Amino acid sequence: MDASAFELSAQQRELAERARAFGQKWAPHATTIDRDDAAPLGEMVRDSVEMGVAGITIPTEYGGQGLSAFEFSIAVEESCRAMKSWMAGDVLFATTCTGPSVLMISGNEIAQKQYLPEIAAGRRTAAIALSEPNHGSAVTDIETTARREGDTLVINGDKRFITGCPEYDTYVTFVRLDDRPGAKGIGAVVVEKGTPGLELGGGPEYMGSRGSPHGELRFRDCRLPMSNLLMGEGSFPVLMQAFNMERLYIASLCLGLAEGAYDEAVAYGSERHQFGKPIDEFQAVYHLIAEMWTQIESVRYLTQRAALTADQGKFPKALDVSVAKLHAADTARDVCWKAMQVLGGNGLVTGFPPERCFRDVIVSSIAGGTIQVLKNTIASQLLGKRLDQRAR
Ligand SMILES: Cc1cc2nc3c(=O)[nH]c(=O)nc-3n(C[C@H](O)[C@H](O)[C@H](O)COP(=O)(O)OP(=O)(O)OC[C@H]3O[C@@H](n4cnc5c(N)ncnc54)[C@H](O)[C@@H]3O)c2cc1C
Repeated sequence: MDASAFELSAQQRELAERARAFGQKWAPHATTIDRDDAAPLGEMVRDSVEMGVAGITIPTEYGGQGLSAFEFSIAVEESCRAMKSWMAGDVLFATTCTGPSVLMISGNEIAQKQYLPEIAAGRRTAAIALSEPNHGSAVTDIETTARREGDTLVINGDKRFITGCPEYDTYVTFVRLDDRPGAKGIGAVVVEKGTPGLELGGGPEYMGSRGSPHGELRFRDCRLPMSNLLMGEGSFPVLMQAFNMERLYIASLCLGLAEGAYDEAVAYGSERHQFGKPIDEFQAVYHLIAEMWTQIESVRYLTQRAALTADQGKFPKALDVSVAKLHAADTARDVCWKAMQVLGGNGLVTGFPPERCFRDVIVSSIAGGTIQVLKNTIASQLLGKRLDQRAR
């Protein structure tokens, strides 16, 4: 990969422009969405379709844009930078990210034909349901079961912290299909909102990513046709390839939010005067700008590299994308904090974007895999040995 890989083509620049326009359109609503912890998701998704930022990686034969993880990353970055809110990325997540990626990698053509065109057109939104009340980081311990009964699957169990619930209408759900412990028995099904036996509920209030719906799924003898089985037992490693899109998404979101906070700091630094001159002419502030930009460039490099080296252009590699997400969340938090310092007291006032970006970025250290779990993944790939995490 040479440096030209990072230069955007005309088509990519157009996509970035569309994503920026989408973020700008919703920027005036960012404070209200954050304050009320509620967003007009349906309207935002419709806009994302009309403005050409939906279904980015879904193949064209299913009505998507047929683009790669790299383009998805750029679109998330630009929309979050312009809106200065997690919520912009969340809308793109609903029609491109982890849920659609599992459908795409599954090889289940019936489900692909049924769901991908609807998702690409924004008539459906797709969530990923993996975490459970008793198993967050320990994804290989999930307890939600899918029992085969004739030509039916019977699902039982609970999912927690699920982005999009209860508003999204399609839930790609990780389940245990047999009694073997650990990853071996795990596969995935697709379930629609409204299926008897599936109850959707809201979740707790977060400090950041506000406006993004999130909640709990309760499966009680929820019966599905066998065609809803996306991947059977033994498919966990492949499922995690699709899940790596979630890590890329969060790294891209951090990049956009850091840039959004930086843009605010630059504008404020030239307008605000103290001691008779603009504050960006004090060398301490002048240097903060340089430090922030250097940090942003490092996040951009690692994030785009993870996207560019993705398998089939769509499924980022575990090592690259874990490094990108770990660095992005940590660095973006520091960039936002520096931007808050440039704004002085206003940096702490709600409604000024840097503090919202800061809160959103903190969430990104947990969602999609915690700092500690990412370090486990990175070290295990580097050293070629996986430390046993299990109690004896
Ligand atoms: C905003 C948001 C959106 C989310 N969206 C989704 C979603 O759409 N779908 C979904 O399925 N989930 C989602 N999640 C859940 C998220 O993936 C989990 O919260 C996360 O994986 C951590 O799990 P946990 O909260 O149960 O924490 P725990 O796993 O209980 O971890 C608690 C602490 O222990 C540490 N720890 C645990 N195990 C280890 C270990 N082996 N080594 C070192 N440290 C360890 C963790 O790093 C952490 O510090 C979301 C979460 C948030 C906050």
